[in-house]
Amino acid sequence: MGTVGTKIVGMDVKELIKLLNKALADEWLAVYQYWVGAKIVKGPMRPNVEAELEEHSQDELKHANMLADRIVQLGGEPIIDPSEWKRQSTCGYELPKNPSVKALLKQNIKGEQCAIMTYHNILEKVKLGNDPITFNMVRKIMEDEVEHEEDLQDLLEDMKGIK
Ligand code: FE
Ligand code: FE
Ligand code: MG
Repeated sequence: MGTVGTKIVGMDVKELIKLLNKALADEWLAVYQYWVGAKIVKGPMRPNVEAELEEHSQDELKHANMLADRIVQLGGEPIIDPSEWKRQSTCGYELPKNPSVKALLKQNIKGEQCAIMTYHNILEKVKLGNDPITFNMVRKIMEDEVEHEEDLQDLLEDMKGIK
């Protein structure tokens, strides 16, 4: 933790760390949601969908890294107990009971839409609290989430007409 680097944050740092840890919980659940989805997916365009899900899983892991590094930088501790992921998550984990491409895509689209809204809310808070470093990080993550939603919706769109 850097003393001045933390002092310049214009909001309650504990509160900010809590928000970032909730986002970290979301990211880890998203890593697994995509990872396991890529393993079990069945149906039309399977190779395309599998590749996209794998790629997104890697992206979510990068987000988890960014969040954890910032939490540590602010003097906080990233969640150390995986059983906290579900408890602290905002977007949760959708059990992929149906491994069809369409069902998985729909679940993951829902997850991305929740992620976009969650980061949108954090962005507002850090903007008002004037934390340009967290702002910049969250903006980068959010750009990926917006792209993720588009990628999945495009795949679903391309699948229209396929039974
Ligand atoms: Fe993410
Ligand atoms: Fe995402
Ligand atoms: Mg993609």
